[in-house]
Amino acid sequence: MKQSRIVCALLILFQFISVKTNAQYQSELSSKPFLTLKGSVDRKSFQTYLEVPFAIPDNVKRMTVYFTYNRNQRTTIDLGILDPEKFRGWSGGTRDSFTISDQDATPGYLAGALPAGQWKLLLGIPNIKENVKANYEAKIYIDTDYKITEFYDRPINTKPGWYRGDFHMHSGNSDGKCKAQSGLDAPCPVFKVVEAAANKSLDFIALTDHNTNSHAEALRELQPYFNQILLVPGREITTFYGHSNVFGLTDFLDFRTLKPSYSESKKWMDIVNQAGGIVSINHAGVPSGENCMGCGWQINDIPKNVISTVEILNGGSMNMSLEGKIQGWDLWHKLLNEGQHITAIGGSDDHRSSENSATIDNIGRPTTVIFMKELSVNALLAGLKSGKAFVDVEGTPDRFIDVFAANTSEKIEMGSTLKAKIADLITISIIVKGAQNGKVELVVNGKVENQFTKNIPTNEANVEINYKIDKNNTHIYAKVYDDKNNLILVSNPVYFEK
Ligand SMILES: [Zn+2]
Ligand SMILES: [Zn+2]
Repeated sequence: MKQSRIVCALLILFQFISVKTNAQYQSELSSKPFLTLKGSVDRKSFQTYLEVPFAIPDNVKRMTVYFTYNRNQRTTIDLGILDPEKFRGWSGGTRDSFTISDQDATPGYLAGALPAGQWKLLLGIPNIKENVKANYEAKIYIDTDYKITEFYDRPINTKPGWYRGDFHMHSGNSDGKCKAQSGLDAPCPVFKVVEAAANKSLDFIALTDHNTNSHAEALRELQPYFNQILLVPGREITTFYGHSNVFGLTDFLDFRTLKPSYSESKKWMDIVNQAGGIVSINHAGVPSGENCMGCGWQINDIPKNVISTVEILNGGSMNMSLEGKIQGWDLWHKLLNEGQHITAIGGSDDHRSSENSATIDNIGRPTTVIFMKELSVNALLAGLKSGKAFVDVEGTPDRFIDVFAANTSEKIEMGSTLKAKIADLITISIIVKGAQNGKVELVVNGKVENQFTKNIPTNEANVEINYKIDKNNTHIYAKVYDDKNNLILVSNPVYFEK
């Protein structure tokens, strides 16, 4: 239902400018607003409420309002909003922006459908002095399509660099538990999960409750408080034929996958990819059965470029086997050997908010370390897609691996592709930190090539290995073992194109 725009007579002036068509709404801050409302208040408005109407079209999924005003002589303008039918939130003088979506909203505001028609900004004027005129401006952004969600309107850290985090954990929004005041188990609040991750000094986490997106609202609330750890929209799409983490979106995704085929899973996979998110396959090798319903991955007809990442190590099964079939290695190698560029990641699959130190699957074990241009959701997704990332099996604060490949004309970094002809001699450079007296192995097309295994002599080492490209060679990655032969680091591949 679309209502015509109604222009009310108000005590204040307002105007609509820069109205855009739906197709032009791109990212909130990099594009122009849907509309900008401008006006002013003076002493006549003192201790009154003003309604500033504006119209939104059909099919809006999310609205963000940025409000600024001239605070001259302690002028204060409180902020709230009404939809065409009812009150939708109030933040008084405490916020200068808020978001309302059909799934979640800034604290103080009410999530839910955004009906088309006339909305009203609700302005309260608790203080304005005689002879003061204060201009205000409200920039209103709307989205009508699936879109990557940032819970914060700026990067957590603007510096480019390597950032450490965990892509898999559960709160009381699904089956995550922790001890209640009584000492008995209770559904674990999101706050406790994020706090546990912050206590491990992680740079980012994705909270991946099963099939629901109800935790998004808590993450939106917590992000400004935990402002040194990026909270990434995530969920574990949990089907009868496998579990898949998806990252980047808070929109509802129809997880009901009734056959082990892409024709059934595309309804959620395609939405995630079209919005710029990530589809990742979890604990692919875990057997499905009554102990773990639908846990093993069984959907094998997915076209190329739908899956972006594979969880090669899942904390929940690391105590059973690090390198065996129960983990995600086989699926990762299969997809790589099909010629796909798939980034390996790790996830703890923590269900206890790290409180049970007797188990191995605590938040941050394993961690995935990603090179990002800044610490934001969009940069994290781009970093994952670039493949410049590695898995730190034990989730240390400082172990490190980076891999480069070079021939006589070019040097490429981890995740990138080197043009190399058959019989070309290339140099693989592996920079390793924190693995003194350990060894590095090269894995070529999914198989360890023992003749290239090298010892790591120092805590910070640059190991160089010369390798002759053969006709089947599409990618090489590196595994690092410590001096007790425990797997501690896994790089992502460098790729070759003939
Ligand atoms: Zn799972
Ligand atoms: Zn899980």
